[in-house]
Amino acid sequence: MKNSKILILGAGLSGLATAYYLERNGFKSTILETRNRLGGRIHTIYKKDEAPVELGATWMGKKHTHLIHLLSNLKIESFIQELGKKAIYEPISTSPPQMVELPSNEDPSFRIANGSSSLINSLANHLTSSEIILNAKVISIKSKNGIIEVNTMSESFDADFVVSTLPPNLLINTIEFIPSLPKELIQIAKNTHTWMGESIKICLTFDFPFWRKNSSGTMFSNVGPISELYDHSNAEDSYYALKGFMNGSFYGATPNERQNFVLDQLSKYYGDEVKSFRNYHECVWRLKSPTFYPYDGYILPHQNNGNPIYMKDYMEGKFFISGSETAPSFPGYMDGAVESASIVAQKIINLNSKMN
Ligand SMILES: Cc1cc2nc3c(=O)[nH]c(=O)nc-3n(C[C@H](O)[C@H](O)[C@H](O)COP(=O)(O)OP(=O)(O)OC[C@H]3O[C@@H](n4cnc5c(N)ncnc54)[C@H](O)[C@@H]3O)c2cc1C
Repeated sequence: MKNSKILILGAGLSGLATAYYLERNGFKSTILETRNRLGGRIHTIYKKDEAPVELGATWMGKKHTHLIHLLSNLKIESFIQELGKKAIYEPISTSPPQMVELPSNEDPSFRIANGSSSLINSLANHLTSSEIILNAKVISIKSKNGIIEVNTMSESFDADFVVSTLPPNLLINTIEFIPSLPKELIQIAKNTHTWMGESIKICLTFDFPFWRKNSSGTMFSNVGPISELYDHSNAEDSYYALKGFMNGSFYGATPNERQNFVLDQLSKYYGDEVKSFRNYHECVWRLKSPTFYPYDGYILPHQNNGNPIYMKDYMEGKFFISGSETAPSFPGYMDGAVESASIVAQKIINLNSKMN
């Protein structure tokens, strides 16, 4: 093992993949994660005799080659997201919902077999010499005499290299830097959109996929509060679920109110069978503080994602800003998390070989 002390902030896909790429090249690292779980914006709920429910990232496409390559290395399979032949479409509140024919899909989306968290768990299982510390919220980073000191609420760590995988807006607003980072970087980070940070996912699990009788689980609505819905049954098609996005502005409602909104809207399309659900699951990501941080003003989806400023190094070449939003190809997506991990791991490997 090479001797540089490497600290990674965040045990989401990017942090775990960085540690994985480093370890394959003989470097061990320590990951500091504020949550009490791995995965960050990847969060699958597993319940006995139910379809795995994705409260975070779900879909990938053939263009996501960094992610596909990693899944193939880890021998993790994927399966097509079925949309069905017909979908429900609700364009306006003054007319009833319509049934529309779906064209054949030349470029389907795929889901990770047994849930997106199986990628997270597999990466963690491959880390045999690296350490993951949960419940470790980083609050400050200081550069002094060529060493970086990283402080959590209760501990202090010295490192030769530090990689942040926090969404940039969260990083810049929640961690104190001494000395302060360049003004231009701060300005861009504060205006970097955190993909899906404001989203609400809702899901119902069922014993029987009754929605397939007359249509499919695919629904698009301009009326809401659910704007999109999909069949979320498992890869084997043995456990059934419907999952979608609720308009993010419903974050102020109670979970019970949101559940009632979901049942009311879906009963309109599918009838009372909707009420035979086994479990209701939801995640209001805006309220999950280690992801979203409010912006100073209005910013666009994906604004400043992949900005080249994130390819520079900071604190005398020892601090790197990584994570999905920094990736050049598909920032904000799982593919971006993996690409950013491979870029930063390679930078550290190169720097280390120059030092020795
Ligand atoms: C609802 C939703 C749906 C999505 N759907 C898709 C999809 O279908 N396809 C797709 O490709 N992508 C999707 N995404 C995006 C995808 O989840 C992300 O691109 C990817 O998971 C980001 O990984 P990351 O490691 O870069 O960041 P994160 O997963 O955000 O990881 C950052 C980690 O840092 C930790 N952290 C934060 N603050 C601190 C601190 N102070 N100290 C220590 N640790 C800290 C966090 O807890 C977190 O674990 C979705 C995201 C959401 C929320």
